[in-house]
Amino acid sequence: MEQKPKKKKKPRGKARQIEGKCISCGARCQIACPVDAVEMTEAETPIIDDGKCIGCRKCVKVCPADAIEMYFTPEEEALLKELEAAGGAAEEEEAPEEKAADGEQGAESNIALWNGVWVYIEQFEGKAHEVSWELLGKGRELADDLGVELAAFGLGDSIKHLADEAFGYGADKVYIMEDPALKHYRTASYLHGTVELVNKYKPEIVLMGATGLGRDLAGAVATDLKTGLTADCTQLSIDKKMRILEQTRPAFGGNIMATILTETRRPQMASVRPHVMPKKEFQEGRKGEVITEPFTMEEDAIPQKVIDIIKAAQESSVNIAGAKVIVAGGRGMLNKENFDKLQDLADILGGVVGGSRCAFDEGWIEHARQVGQTGKTVHPKLYIACAISGAIQHLVGMQDSEFIIAINKDKTAPVFEVAHLGIVGDVFEIIPDLIDKLKQSNAKAVE
Ligand SMILES: Cc1cc2nc3c(=O)[nH]c(=O)nc-3n(C[C@H](O)[C@H](O)[C@H](O)COP(=O)(O)OP(=O)(O)OC[C@H]3O[C@@H](n4cnc5c(N)ncnc54)[C@H](O)[C@@H]3O)c2cc1C
Repeated sequence: MEQKPKKKKKPRGKARQIEGKCISCGARCQIACPVDAVEMTEAETPIIDDGKCIGCRKCVKVCPADAIEMYFTPEEEALLKELEAAGGAAEEEEAPEEKAADGEQGAESNIALWNGVWVYIEQFEGKAHEVSWELLGKGRELADDLGVELAAFGLGDSIKHLADEAFGYGADKVYIMEDPALKHYRTASYLHGTVELVNKYKPEIVLMGATGLGRDLAGAVATDLKTGLTADCTQLSIDKKMRILEQTRPAFGGNIMATILTETRRPQMASVRPHVMPKKEFQEGRKGEVITEPFTMEEDAIPQKVIDIIKAAQESSVNIAGAKVIVAGGRGMLNKENFDKLQDLADILGGVVGGSRCAFDEGWIEHARQVGQTGKTVHPKLYIACAISGAIQHLVGMQDSEFIIAINKDKTAPVFEVAHLGIVGDVFEIIPDLIDKLKQSNAKAVE
């Protein structure tokens, strides 16, 4: 049988660095490489391993300084010329490693295409949840560290007015998807809209509030996009060298703080509970660009229908998460009556009483006043921890307070590690003393 002549494949070449042009942008070439062929030197310039490079050109495309080029051996160059002369229609040789990498990982092989920080504007009946503005403050820091835009995005019915608020809290752009079908939150419709927006604009980071709604939406979106989601983060920062989001949260029952990276998928998704991040000051008159996108799902395709909205009865009148001064008591307070002394101190300082989980378990405080991992996260101007040991589950809820005073008779209590002022002594002597002194000096409430 006659054999067909073998088709000549176009050589792919290898990537190499052009001496003196690298600007140490933060290892974009290394992140983009699907086969780990790029190592960074101490001076943060790349060394490209010839043996590993598959000629995919991804590093060339992402380099902002045109500091990487493709090169060919003399034989390859001759072949290229020959193919060109023959019409240049030859197929490019395919590297099996690249195919495998693309097939397995999909999104991450194009990590360099994802750009910008996005914050979800959670709203109910056109009023934004405060956590959205808190996250915009953190989002601004992250975007500035990356040198990219900060955008907010919202879904709903008649919600364009939220864009002005978002600009005031730091957004450069606001993406709005409005439709009567989005009037009330439903997982399927909000998931559809969010995934369409994210796939179209490709933000590298998406932040959402860890509210009931946010937890539902973030989980669904991350699953659909096959990306990572770190829930209930207590800290977010950027590793500038890797240009990657560091997502920190308590792990293993709160015994360690884990920093989680989403290295190979995009977007990097994180949720943060309300009041964990401080809200930045609103900048009146700050403007940006509003981009509207249509909602493309038919009402009939949304399985959930909203029949009625029944608002939950107010659980408690105390808003410990928003308080400027908190006087918190722990197991060492011994009984409910002793919390009255803490209330006296809180009243003088214009604050509220909170407590540890032990105080709640003992029935000395209601759950709305519990601070910590399974309670509220707070960041008041002043936090006074009275007879609280400072277990990690408590600390994660209060360690970002502006000023912490700890009173404990055990000088090795872990609470002293986060306290700005530690008083080693008996709380039953110190609190009455403090109340007397404050009364004498006619203490004013902290503004
Ligand atoms: C999954 C999980 C989630 C949790 N979530 C939370 C949470 O949200 N919030 C939370 O607080 N805990 C939480 N906990 C519990 C946490 O691990 C601790 O058990 C709890 O915080 C301890 O409370 P405490 O400091 O009041 O009590 P203790 O640890 O018993 O400390 C009492 C302190 O009082 C001091 N003391 C006693 N008498 C006096 C006195 N007269 N004067 C001065 N000091 C005195 C003692 O020296 C001691 O340090 C959680 C635990 C788990 C496993």
